[in-house]
Amino acid sequence: MSNDHSYIIMDPDFQTVDIEAYKHGGSNITGVRFFDPSLDIIQEFIAAVNEQVLELSNKQTENAISENGLPLNLALMYDSVMLYTSAIDAMGLTEGGDINCDHQNSWEFGSSIINYVRTIEIDGLTGIVKFDEDGLRSDFEIDVLEVMGHGFEKVGTWTADDGYTEARKIIPPIEEEGSESMKGKHFIVLTALSAPYGMLKESQATLEGNDRYEGFGIEIIEELAKMNEFNYTFDIQEDGVYGSYDAKTGKWNGMMEKIMDGRAHFAITDLTITSARQKAVDFTSPFMNLGITILYKKPTKEPPNLFSFISPFSLEVWGWLAGAYVGVSVLLFVLGRFAPEEWQNPYPCIAEPETLDNQFTLANSFWFTLGSVLTQGSEIAPIAVSTRMAGSMWWFFTLIMVSSYTANLAAFLTVESKFYAIKSVQDLANNPYGMTYGAKKGGATFSFFKESDNLLYQKMYQYMDTHPEYMTATNDEGLERVKSETENYAFLMESTSIEYMVERNCDVAQVGGLLDSKGYGIAMKKNSPYRQPMSESILQLQEQGKITRMKDKWWKEKRGGGACADDDTGSGDAQPLVLANVGGVFIVLAAGSGMAAICAFVEMIFDVWITSHRVKVPFKEELIAELKFIFTTSGEVKPVRHRESTGSGSKGSKKDDDDKSVNAEAPPDDLLEPGRANNSERSSHSHHTSHSRRQSNALQVARMRRFS
Ligand code: GLU
Repeated sequence: MSNDHSYIIMDPDFQTVDIEAYKHGGSNITGVRFFDPSLDIIQEFIAAVNEQVLELSNKQTENAISENGLPLNLALMYDSVMLYTSAIDAMGLTEGGDINCDHQNSWEFGSSIINYVRTIEIDGLTGIVKFDEDGLRSDFEIDVLEVMGHGFEKVGTWTADDGYTEARKIIPPIEEEGSESMKGKHFIVLTALSAPYGMLKESQATLEGNDRYEGFGIEIIEELAKMNEFNYTFDIQEDGVYGSYDAKTGKWNGMMEKIMDGRAHFAITDLTITSARQKAVDFTSPFMNLGITILYKKPTKEPPNLFSFISPFSLEVWGWLAGAYVGVSVLLFVLGRFAPEEWQNPYPCIAEPETLDNQFTLANSFWFTLGSVLTQGSEIAPIAVSTRMAGSMWWFFTLIMVSSYTANLAAFLTVESKFYAIKSVQDLANNPYGMTYGAKKGGATFSFFKESDNLLYQKMYQYMDTHPEYMTATNDEGLERVKSETENYAFLMESTSIEYMVERNCDVAQVGGLLDSKGYGIAMKKNSPYRQPMSESILQLQEQGKITRMKDKWWKEKRGGGACADDDTGSGDAQPLVLANVGGVFIVLAAGSGMAAICAFVEMIFDVWITSHRVKVPFKEELIAELKFIFTTSGEVKPVRHRESTGSGSKGSKKDDDDKSVNAEAPPDDLLEPGRANNSERSSHSHHTSHSRRQSNALQVARMRRFS
């Protein structure tokens, strides 16, 4: 009792059978009935009979007739009696004859009644009751019933004259014109050795026939064969040409040609459904979706930059920072001159000095701002409200700038920067770094560029058309050229194939997004009767998730899949900085130290030159004496060699010389060595005291000694 079975039940009481157990079995069960139990006349008869039955059987309901339970013989008997009584009535007979079954004699009205009955017609329980010349019922109608999920259903009628008439509106099965069962048939399936769609099995044993091949496409055909119960033999397209149309010869080549010629029934591989191909052959629904994109070498790691400490700020910000530094320094200098509080008594011991000093000289202003921007501070401290305000704003500015710099520097030093030669198809079209590119010869990718009306793609088509040397026979060849060290080659390829390649070749990657969207399908002859069943089966495989599972298996697991899965992990971890990352800072330090040494040397030479002129000693002699002192004398005390006073100069150094000369015989340490004087001053004065003030104080002490 399944879909495959059909039954015709000849029992005229079919409608009285309990069909509950067979309603959902799926079998086709057909039967007949002579009357429709739902008619009023039938139901009234059943009710009348049941009334009698219940009365006679003391209300025992099991003997009652159910709604559908009126048997044909009872209905026929009723109709016979009705017919007989109507004949008797019509003939005006009031009593029957004295006859019994054990005697030969018959009732005198018997034949008249029979003749009469043959001529009349009544509307009985079983329809019109009427007889032909032979005394058989004529003109009756039989209902044809079928068992459905909801019970019996009248599907047609049968009459002796017209035969069977279908009562249902027959909806023909939705089949494409020419759709045909594939069951038990044998097909040639063309495929190409293109991984992972079709590949030769790796096996020690010698394999034969279909056993030699495996792959995504091969497995799809295996599944389709199981579903549609067909047999198949794989045939390989040795040259790997899928098929393109040659306008000159008006012919197709490759797999397409074989399908059109009938040399193969189906073709399956990474065969793209294109409008041009669709005109020549039929395709099933796509079993995979994809788009064109670029295969290229993975972006290389950029070598660490010696001067990466510059990178946290753009050049523009560095420029603005320098501008702010100069601006604020000059502002402090100007504010210092304006602010009365910045004019301080240089000699605290003298209550009413003749002159006042200002700590914000131009040099000190620059030193103050530099000290704070480099987070080192300086001994200069603003006193006036205006200078303090400017100073604190500068400190706030430097706080934000320095924190931003530090935060960004950490990122710049630890995050590996990558060099992308191209990031999109636009970059590729511009041919940077002498890059070359191509696609599979005669493939759907090449046709895409050929057919496109996009100017960029047209430009790329022109390039590929004029450089056939960059076109490849297979995708594998394209991959090898991309990987090649000697070539700077990018390959335009379909995304699904790129996914497969990058799983196994960790030095290549997909670049940019998809240029279009299309699918792979199974090709067959135009108007093939197998398109419909094959498409349906593919959709079923997709709905069951089988195609996704197959894809995962052939892309990520089999034949070295997943080899590059861990490739990029760890790039987010902090890496120890190598010298190359921070080398620039050492260079700056070395350069600064070198410059300081040069400055010191130039200062020394200059001082020696001045001195040699002043005391009229040859420069060379003076220089040698000075160098001798520097390199031979230990200790921190330097005797003053020249006593002559220049008698002029208000500048610190000259004043120093001047003052030093006063006590040259027994030079006190603090006078001869301004640095030391400064040290002693630093301990006794507040840190507000400026360098110049300390120098002046030292001079003050010297003067006082001179007076005493
Ligand atoms: N799938 C393509 C085709 O059917 C081949 C590969 C390509 O052109 O990128 O022709």
